Amino acid sequence: MLTVQAALRQGSQLLKDGGIPDPRLTAEVLLAHALKRDRTYLYAHGERELAEVEWVHYGRYLHERLKGKPTQYITRTQEFYGRPFLVTPDVLIPRPETEHVIERVLGLSGRRRHILDIGCGSGAIAVTLAIETGAGVVATDISPPALLIARHNARALGAAVEFVCCDLASAIRGEFDVVASNPPYVPEGEIAGLQREIREHEPRVALDGGPTGTEIYSRLVPQAARLLRRGGWVVFEIGYRSEEGVRLALKDGWEDIEVGHDLAGLPRVISARRAS
Ligand code: SAM
Ligand code: GLN
Repeated sequence: MLTVQAALRQGSQLLKDGGIPDPRLTAEVLLAHALKRDRTYLYAHGERELAEVEWVHYGRYLHERLKGKPTQYITRTQEFYGRPFLVTPDVLIPRPETEHVIERVLGLSGRRRHILDIGCGSGAIAVTLAIETGAGVVATDISPPALLIARHNARALGAAVEFVCCDLASAIRGEFDVVASNPPYVPEGEIAGLQREIREHEPRVALDGGPTGTEIYSRLVPQAARLLRRGGWVVFEIGYRSEEGVRLALKDGWEDIEVGHDLAGLPRVISARRAS
């Protein structure tokens, strides 16, 4: 039988030979998952021998990762804004860049009592905003299985969010202070060029933004205008080439338009205020 140390060595080597990025870290995450412990446990127990069932699980996880399955779908978890979210292949894995959407909403001036999140996926934005702002949050998605995951996350993290299954915000009535969204924005023609982890494993409905990747914003903006009070805000995540198209969609009836960049210097979040 193998020790923890030897299992990590062998696992990292396999992943490295298979061209998987961060092989050592990935091996640690997968072994910790097989042992149902966290990574720090591995450092203190390098000499411990793996039980057969642990070895079998670890082997399966390595195999899945080598075939391109993202680590987060294997461990079924991704941290977002410091909290663990359940993720399955029914939802997009929340990206660290999406935390810019949260920061932008938290930095807005004015009232933030009612928030709508359109296309909530795992619930990362909706749940985080509910907890961070104490606002009443409504969240939509077109995918019923994604909504099951989002509901689970809201319950597990103690966030009161109302979930609705519909196209964008078509079934939503009422008046909101903020409408947030990270819609699918990858131009259709670029999907084939994405990493296989994304292309083959993440839901296409979460990625495919149509021919230019900005089509969805031209549908989102009028729906947001209908649901926002005057002076209320939209905050959207955008693709690295979407700025122009999204600005165009916000041409009439919006003010204080501001684009924020991510750590890579790419445009990532846009906010605008419904003219009063
Ligand atoms: N908000 C999550 C996040 O930031 O991690 C998920 C974002 S993912 C890029 C886009 C989400 O929008 C997916 O969950 C997808 O199912 C949903 N979606 C796509 N088209 C939609 C539509 N027409 N109406 C509502 N939701 C839609
Ligand atoms: N940021 C995702 C990616 O890396 C795309 C998510 C989206 O379409 N909103 O591909």
